[in-house]
Amino acid sequence: MDCIFCKILQGEIPSYKIYEDDYVYAFLDITQGTKGHTLVIPKEHVENIYDLTEELAENIFRVIPKLAKALKTSFNPIGLNIVNNNDKPLQSVFHFHLHLIPRYENDGMELSTINNYGKTSDKSFKDIVKTIKKNIR
Ligand code: AMP
Ligand code: ZN
Repeated sequence: MDCIFCKILQGEIPSYKIYEDDYVYAFLDITQGTKGHTLVIPKEHVENIYDLTEELAENIFRVIPKLAKALKTSFNPIGLNIVNNNDKPLQSVFHFHLHLIPRYENDGMELSTINNYGKTSDKSFKDIVKTIKKNIR
């Protein structure tokens, strides 16, 4: 399979590993958007969030707090974002991964959400809830 992260897991491509267990591998993102920018991936190849089983999700997310704390202790960031991109054009590597992105004063990283407060009616909120709840399986 032509997956760059599977190649990293198999040692065919080098990586800056920071953590590994039976299910999960964590390594520095090559672009280092900020100092300590880390990727956490499952050892099992799954494309994105839609393909994660609950068990695999548990195994991945279980290690996130300790890695986040390690980044906080190591570099004393002012905050930390966790980002997960799914599907084109957001996703560029199609092996599920979480970005752990320590944030620093004036780091130039753009990850802000848009604030549309006040622009959604009560009816819209209720319709959105109804639609989503109908689709939770
Ligand atoms: P995305 O799929 O857009 O969420 O992001 C994929 C991430 O993988 C990008 O931030 C890349 O910098 C990173 N990346 C791609 N190839 C490598 C590699 N060989 N080693 C480390 N990080 C990589
Ligand atoms: Zn893969």
